[in-house]
Amino acid sequence: MAANASFSLPPPPAAAHSRAWHRLAAGPWLALALLLGACTGEDGPAPAPPPAAAAPEAPVAAPDTAENVPVPALGGAAMPVSPPASPQAPEAPAADAAAGGPAFALLGTDIPAGTSTRLMWSPSKIFEGMASETPVLVVHGRKPGPVLCITAAVHGDELNGIEIVRRVFQDLDPKSLAGTAIGVPIVNIHGFRRGARYLPDRRDLNRFFPGNPQGSSAARIAHSLFENILRRCTALVDLHTGSFARTNLPQVRADLGIEPVANLAHGFGGMLVLNSEASPGTLRRAATDAGIPAVILEAGEPLRLQPKQVEQGVAGIRRLLAALGMTRKATLLGQPEPVYYRSRWVRADHGGVLASAVRLGQTVRPGDILGNVTDPITNEQNLIRAPVAGRVIGMAVNQIVMPGFAAFHLGTEAQPARTVALARAPDKDKSARDRDVAARDATIAEGDPDTE
Ligand SMILES: [Zn+2]
Repeated sequence: MAANASFSLPPPPAAAHSRAWHRLAAGPWLALALLLGACTGEDGPAPAPPPAAAAPEAPVAAPDTAENVPVPALGGAAMPVSPPASPQAPEAPAADAAAGGPAFALLGTDIPAGTSTRLMWSPSKIFEGMASETPVLVVHGRKPGPVLCITAAVHGDELNGIEIVRRVFQDLDPKSLAGTAIGVPIVNIHGFRRGARYLPDRRDLNRFFPGNPQGSSAARIAHSLFENILRRCTALVDLHTGSFARTNLPQVRADLGIEPVANLAHGFGGMLVLNSEASPGTLRRAATDAGIPAVILEAGEPLRLQPKQVEQGVAGIRRLLAALGMTRKATLLGQPEPVYYRSRWVRADHGGVLASAVRLGQTVRPGDILGNVTDPITNEQNLIRAPVAGRVIGMAVNQIVMPGFAAFHLGTEAQPARTVALARAPDKDKSARDRDVAARDATIAEGDPDTE
């Protein structure tokens, strides 16, 4: 078959895709195996394994073969794979570096222009001499441009984002890319290994940014990511899913009161954009506070790999890459405009077995039945009705719920211009602005059950 799966080649054929899906669905470890490409030898120190040692599924290009192809540092069939992140790695692509701009420095490695590589980031050391590493994908384009970071699995059980990163990066061609794309597919490697949202100490990593080198384990990991990787970015997309058996319609969450963030959100084209202020401690908030515009892309539910949600996420990021001028637009037709939303949660007033009566994405009118909560002992039934007109942008999967459980997330369309203007213009209609901010704060104070 193909001797060398180039990074710039189109995705594998459908059959290969479905096979990959099957394997991904089998569990997080297999997903990790795919991400790491051919684990055998890839991370090992051996610089030139003998041909017989090459993994049959992901042939590693021998050094002399690599010189004959225009893009160096390729190997794994499923992912772009660099030579091991070692000091001599950037040697081969000297010619490309001359043809492009300056090298990009990250994690102690200089990545020549026009090349792709995979580095390893060690967020923490469990014991001295025993680090837990997670891959960092870098595509450094020949032409100058933005540095877009895409992070996933800050919550270790959120798998859709891992696959979104894989698919986006597989298609990026460093020869034509303007700027640099950095992907961290599994930020919370500890949680991922256990299929858990949190770190082993039960802390939520996404409450500790920008971190503290002298703080808790979570604060130190957050600090390492922020200082070593995030500070190199000019924009951030952080990928998430709903939390705790809730699912989200693919959506961008952005603080539209901040102009560069609003512009970034607009780049996703025809996606739903929810105006939401980032909570303190989140990666999104820390990045924005540091002057790096950041948004969240939510898609689907935790602990699952959902092809449809992944596809929509990938499409949104591809539109963003084009909007940022990093890739060429796939079509001459105008970009679809995003639709802006505000939102509120509808809670269950009774405990019992929740059975939904609506689908994700469905439009509802005031009074429509959203779901039914049945007391498992008395058989008493209580309906949950929509208090306002809107669209179901997030919802709990069917489960046992307690009174007060946030079951349905309804989005109502909002005018972005008004929303942004209210947040931005301090000398205009102060009372209206205060009402707007108060409503937003009330939602936050009430507790958004699936804050990123
Ligand atoms: Zn999350």
